[in-house]
Formats: sequence, structure tokens, C-alpha cells
Amino acid sequence: MRGRELEVLVKTAAKQALVNVSEQLARAVAESGVSTGIACASVPHTTCALLINEDEEGLREDILRLSGEVIEPLRRKAPFAHDRIDNNAAAHLTSLFFHPSVTVPISGGKPLLGTWQSLFLLELDGPRTRTVRFTVTGE
Ligand code: ZN
Repeated sequence: MRGRELEVLVKTAAKQALVNVSEQLARAVAESGVSTGIACASVPHTTCALLINEDEEGLREDILRLSGEVIEPLRRKAPFAHDRIDNNAAAHLTSLFFHPSVTVPISGGKPLLGTWQSLFLLELDGPRTRTVRFTVTGE
């Protein structure tokens, strides 16, 4: 059984943004020496998330549109309580619809992603520098 942890810093350029971190995942797996196992990507943040989907320009726009609008009906009803302290309740609440970690199988020393699957960091309260942790275990 092998294990390896790797942290990478990801700079986001806008309030909401999608950053493809598939290469960082592949590098973490390659550096681990694990051939068969799992890689867990996680973010130690409450206003961003990770997701797997297709890296297509239109779809990236659609995902940002979805994440930008998913809690709007709630906001229209009444102000968010958390906005009293740091004005980013929408980012916290939107992150609830995504995940702070994603697990990917490893096969043949590579992340087992489908042809159209990429791993993304979804920024909801940028621009910021975010930490993405990769924990790789297996044989
Ligand atoms: Zn906050």
C-alpha cells in the first residue's frame, strides 16, 4: 500500500470561475507511484467546490450560470443572514449544491476519467488563491 499527499495552489481570476485541474490530478497520481487505487481531490474551503464534467466552452458558461442562479430565488425572498458578517452567503450556499471533494479511481497509474470528463475547481467567491489537496492511496 502506497500513499501520497500533494497540495497545489490554484489562482482564480473572477468572482465565479471554473479552473480545470485535471493535469494537477494526473501529476499527483503519477508522482505517487500508485498503479491501482483511488485519488481523492479536496478543497479546504467553504466557498468553492470540485466537480467533474466536460471541458467545453459553452458548458463552462452554463455551469457558471447555474451556480450563479441556483440560490437567487431564495435571495429574492429575504436577505441572507450570513451577509451581515462578510457578504458572501451566496457563495457558501451555492457550494452546498456541489462537493468539497471528489474521488477518482486510478488504473494503470492514471486517473480513470472518461474521455469527456475533466476535474474542475468551481470558484464561487473569487478572485482568490485556493488550495487543492490530492490524497492518493493504492498499490
Ligand atoms: Zn462567509
